[in-house]
Amino acid sequence: MGFIAEGNTLVWEDAEKYADYIRQHGVEQLLNIWNDQKDRGNDVFTWGDEVEYILVSVDNETKDIKLALRSHEVLAVLMQKEKLDPQNVDYLWRPEYGRFMIEGTPGQPYHGLGRQLLSIEESLIKRREEIESHLKENERILTIASYPRMGVEHFAEPYSSPNGLVAESQFLPDTVINPHFRFSTLTANIRKRRGKNVSINIPMYKDINTPPQQDHQTFVSPSNDKAEPYNQPYNIYMDAMGFGMGCCCLQATFQMSNIEEARNVYDHMAVMAPIMLSLTASSAIFKGLLSDIDARWTVISQSVDDRTPEELGQQPLKHNKCVINKSRYDSIDTFISRGNTYRAEYNDLPLVYDKPSLERMVGAGMDEQLARHFAHLFIRDPLVIYSDKIELDDKTHSDHFENIQSTNWQTVRFKPPSPGSPIGWRVEFRPMEVQLTDFENAAFIVFVAILMRAISDLKLNFYVPITKVDENMKTAHLRNSVVNNKFYFRKNITVSTGTSTGNVDEEYELMTIDEIFNGCKEEARESVGLLSIIRKYVAENKSFDAETNRLMDRYFSLIGKRASGELMTMSTWTRHFVQNHPSYKHDSVVSQEIQNDLLQRCFQITNGSTHEPKLLSAELITATGGAN
Ligand code: ADP
Ligand code: MG
Ligand code: MG
Repeated sequence: MGFIAEGNTLVWEDAEKYADYIRQHGVEQLLNIWNDQKDRGNDVFTWGDEVEYILVSVDNETKDIKLALRSHEVLAVLMQKEKLDPQNVDYLWRPEYGRFMIEGTPGQPYHGLGRQLLSIEESLIKRREEIESHLKENERILTIASYPRMGVEHFAEPYSSPNGLVAESQFLPDTVINPHFRFSTLTANIRKRRGKNVSINIPMYKDINTPPQQDHQTFVSPSNDKAEPYNQPYNIYMDAMGFGMGCCCLQATFQMSNIEEARNVYDHMAVMAPIMLSLTASSAIFKGLLSDIDARWTVISQSVDDRTPEELGQQPLKHNKCVINKSRYDSIDTFISRGNTYRAEYNDLPLVYDKPSLERMVGAGMDEQLARHFAHLFIRDPLVIYSDKIELDDKTHSDHFENIQSTNWQTVRFKPPSPGSPIGWRVEFRPMEVQLTDFENAAFIVFVAILMRAISDLKLNFYVPITKVDENMKTAHLRNSVVNNKFYFRKNITVSTGTSTGNVDEEYELMTIDEIFNGCKEEARESVGLLSIIRKYVAENKSFDAETNRLMDRYFSLIGKRASGELMTMSTWTRHFVQNHPSYKHDSVVSQEIQNDLLQRCFQITNGSTHEPKLLSAELITATGGAN
């Protein structure tokens, strides 16, 4: 979470009036940046990660674990060093949506792929220690994607009742929201824009004793309409932004050498996004119930879906401009590269875009493909407007552009430089779920960094039609999709077929993630797999020392074993833990007692005092004993 301005925010009724103004000036700000920076080149490969933590407290007597709504206090202390000497900090600490969340990034971006790779895990270990040094004796932090009993009874400390003015949620009190104005304004304005609460519905896992409706979480139905998803049997219903934006991600941002290189890796990483979501799946429980999905993405997507009935196509267009096929938080809708592996056929999703923005950008000389990407972002209204930051100099500010950009939460984000900033064109990779241990998080961060470089240096080609990426995104949510399901993937990722005129549908097929990563030995469809390409890339292009090579080997082994199913994803491991808990009644309910034991086990795995060989096998764990 980078972009947070100080100041007073406008309520929706006022903000709405400025939407066109913000859009128009956002386009001008973008064009100024683009004109100034489109020809810059030779920027070094710098990059950084973002890890999100949740803060919990353990009751000394009952041993109950609850969310601790105190991260703003911890953050105030953590951020002090940066305020005094911003260039000289080891870590940067940022608030996130939840009042129980903390985000940590490296103090300075990493440079290139060298011995510094050895320090990523160390950085994560130290970050964890730094947060822990500011916690109370009964508080702990965890890197889990979703807090299991969010929204059930007394799930957070201190207790507050739900039905607050901001979220108007039946389940979440407003006190779960970070106290900065931006977050409550986002929550209220999304709700007001769509005309009612957000409605998040995901399938419940049907165990042998699972009733179609769960008594302990009955709710006053927003309407009795039998067709509504929340009235369906075996449905988990959530009604507030906090259920989604309270989930934790693992993200990484990469500065590429120039705009074209950034455009190219953006496209290929967009195809990798659902695959990496499936591989990192770590959220199997929502609202105290085992769900039938393994990943957080759709929950966040639904939790910030501000589309009106007109935009959803439920009513004829009158006040709104277009019917919009996706939430603001979703997979990308258009590829943006003009590199030689790109074929127009891959952009097979009818793109909704803001016409005036597109015309202005194309008129100013931006190529249509990039202009369409940005004009698509501009179909959204700005949600948070600061009353003292409306009239700005479009040459020196990018607030209005960033306003639109930073509330389009897609699987990859194409980031232009800020005006006057030395930082270049960047790509942020956003789908991954945070892992329990620093070892796993470092492994996924480093893998993605190497993959980014390999895509560029080896000209790897992951293109499949974008509608297939959307299908993969749905598949990635399915229970244990990493083992059970197949994803659309290119048959040959090392051959650039951009100039070919053959049928694009011949270029890809359905594959398991094991086949994608570890290769396939079947005669007709023999392939070496992505990991072996990456290993060879590292061996031939990076003269790593023995220590770095050994670490890379452990990271790649973890990924290979998760891909083959030899090791479980966190979601699968969580399900096993719950289903084998002595007090589990096979009714999908994750009681406070089960959660206490689950999270205690998570603390132990994180600090290395317990090993879970099905999650992390012994040879992956360092000689010092800990997973860390
Ligand atoms: P967000 O869009 O997620 O709010 P920010 O714009 O604040 O993120 O960017 C934060 C991320 O960018 C961090 O992971 C940070 O390490 C990384 N980052 C910072 N500077 C650079 C740089 N020069 N090149 C690449 N990544 C960078
Ligand atoms: Mg964040
Ligand atoms: Mg980010």
